[in-house]
Amino acid sequence: MEINHSALRHNYLQSRQQAGRPALAVIKADAYGHGALGCAAALADIADGFALLNIEDAVALRQAGIQQPITLLEGPFDRAEVQAMAEYNIAGAIHSSEQIAWLQEGSLPRAVEVWLKINSGMNRLGFHPEQAAAVIQQLHALPQARLSTIMTHFATADDARGVSAQWQRFAPVAQASGLAISAANSAAVFRHPHTHGTVVRPGITLYGCSPFADCHAAGLGLQTTMTLSADIIAIQHLQAGDTVGYGLNFQAGKPMRIGIVACGYADGYPRIAANGTPVMVAGQRSGTVGRVSMDMLVVNLTHIPAATIGSRVELWGPNVAIEEVAAAAGTIGYELMCAIAPRVPRRLI
Ligand SMILES: *Cc1c(COP(=O)(O)O)cnc(C)c1O
Repeated sequence: MEINHSALRHNYLQSRQQAGRPALAVIKADAYGHGALGCAAALADIADGFALLNIEDAVALRQAGIQQPITLLEGPFDRAEVQAMAEYNIAGAIHSSEQIAWLQEGSLPRAVEVWLKINSGMNRLGFHPEQAAAVIQQLHALPQARLSTIMTHFATADDARGVSAQWQRFAPVAQASGLAISAANSAAVFRHPHTHGTVVRPGITLYGCSPFADCHAAGLGLQTTMTLSADIIAIQHLQAGDTVGYGLNFQAGKPMRIGIVACGYADGYPRIAANGTPVMVAGQRSGTVGRVSMDMLVVNLTHIPAATIGSRVELWGPNVAIEEVAAAAGTIGYELMCAIAPRVPRRLI
């Protein structure tokens, strides 16, 4: 797998320019499979801040010398994490009264910056909008906390349903709070400018993938950050009627030449990817044949005589949009990027 940090920088700047205001680079899930430490270092001189999930990863960023604001999107998971947040100057979302109790119990070296999370309709995390005023008062009164921002997260910013129902619940509470406002994920950055607030939180667009089903990353001015490729390790010649792989779910209708590629679902390539999922070999597009197995997949080379053992096959990257592969596998680019296995060698380009 190749990771392109200059494309990452381009995509960060493109996303921030769309918003026209500060943007926290979301680098959770090991920067969507790209390596959180490396990506943070690559963005260190341009990013307004970083958002992620685990205190361990946040502390690792501080220890690597990252100075920008860091926000934990789900806040502390226990009391000890509140202590670490204070020690390392890491902000975090507060979405439950348990978290407030942990703050109250603490004797901390300094106040922890907190973001109040409002549940505006996704029903995962956050206080109900009606609770907001009371919780804001409570947090303002806590010397252990420094309440800076009110936030929410959208469920359908990427599709035709948009954000209006959630925004109607969130905006009045947010505006009345007098706090900084943060609501926009990548999809809202690109399509719902009225939700940009004070600071936006793009994730997927940094990694050269579109959040929208109707548009690929290139259409948003984004560049490819991740290329997954592997070599052809064997060639087979099929006769009409021959089958391929487990389950015999592909049968050749005519003579074919196929290539066996050293990448399978144990590397993170989706097993469920349909016959014909696009690939690129020797400068030409082709498709997968048969079922993906643990360590191998098969591609059609009938029309690509130049492809041979040792030829590199692009499984996604600049020539095969990850969105296309995701669609063929019934999933989204996010999941493909996050699923790359540790055994896959990483190379920076
Ligand atoms: C993951 C996440 C984001 C980024 O979402 P994208 O769709 O990748 O832009 C923003 N905010 C929160 C709270 C998140 O969990």
